[in-house]
Amino acid sequence: MTEAIIDTARIIDGKAFAADVRTRVATHVARLQADHGLTPGLAVVLVGEDPASQVYVRNKGKQTKEAGMYSVEHRLEATTSEADLLAIIDQLNADPKIHGILVQLPLPDHLDSDLVINAIDPAKDVDGFHISNVGLLGTGQKSMVPCTPLGCLMLLRDLHGSLSGMNAVVVGRSNIVGKPMAQLLLGDSCTVTIAHSRTKNLPEVVRRADIVIAAVGRPQMIPGDWIGPGATVIDVGINRIEGPNGKTRLVGDVDFDSVSRVAGAVTPVPGGVGPMTIACLLANTLTACCRANGLPEPEGLTA
Ligand code: NDP
Repeated sequence: MTEAIIDTARIIDGKAFAADVRTRVATHVARLQADHGLTPGLAVVLVGEDPASQVYVRNKGKQTKEAGMYSVEHRLEATTSEADLLAIIDQLNADPKIHGILVQLPLPDHLDSDLVINAIDPAKDVDGFHISNVGLLGTGQKSMVPCTPLGCLMLLRDLHGSLSGMNAVVVGRSNIVGKPMAQLLLGDSCTVTIAHSRTKNLPEVVRRADIVIAAVGRPQMIPGDWIGPGATVIDVGINRIEGPNGKTRLVGDVDFDSVSRVAGAVTPVPGGVGPMTIACLLANTLTACCRANGLPEPEGLTA
């Protein structure tokens, strides 16, 4: 009788890796305080009462303080005018205690997100969404790198060491995940394909990848038979679905059960990319503080 051998993928523990990043940030922050009397400061601006955004902002504030940093939150009414929001950003731009500014997205419809993000001092733009940082990243220059793609890159480097020459397929072309992710992978000398809703033969495109980044926002869209044997799968998606018992649960953009039978390594949801995003926000705030003061940047915490 022959036995079927079913390999299972290595589960990439983003939660543990993120905890390690936060510890490294906190150690560096303590050294900055001891040696230079400096405390990195992060300001988070939340407009309106979106429940998911409120949870993110609370977690960001908590983890910023736990890392020994200075944390400020501005919670503004959903009806806040663009002029009032821009005035707060101006104040934060000029505040020497603040090294990082994050405006929680999405903003209410009456506010122009591009205008607001581009009002942030690029050196304090710890989300890496300012047009200057997008341009710097696109031309391979030192920039602030968007947190979620940076977190994915850290996980990939930790797993593989060099990514040079690997085929990477990024599914999703948003400005906050897909495009900067593709730039970072190109920067690490991957051969990069960006797929999206108009891509033809998507399963075939994905099957050719050594590295798959799923950033689509569609629950469990990518099944195991789209994945090449042994590929590394990074699942950025965070989707809330209702289970058979009527309770909601979080799932990613890949079908974890079937994918983990084919892939070499895969990130779970929750516990994969999600925790890396806030850890990278702290890392970016620390980096911004070091740059603002002409000090060496922390090693292994930037792109
Ligand atoms: P967007 O909605 O901005 O972009 C989704 C992308 O997926 C688009 O480029 C779209 O293509 C593409 N897409 C949609 N449907 C298909 C399809 N059927 N086949 C192929 N491509 C498709 O989403 P985001 O990039 O902001 O977020 C993606 C996911 O990542 C979401 O689940 C989000 O919640 C999650 N996320 C998680 C974070 C974390 O911390 N882990 C942080 C940020 C996001 P097109 O451009 O053609 O429309």
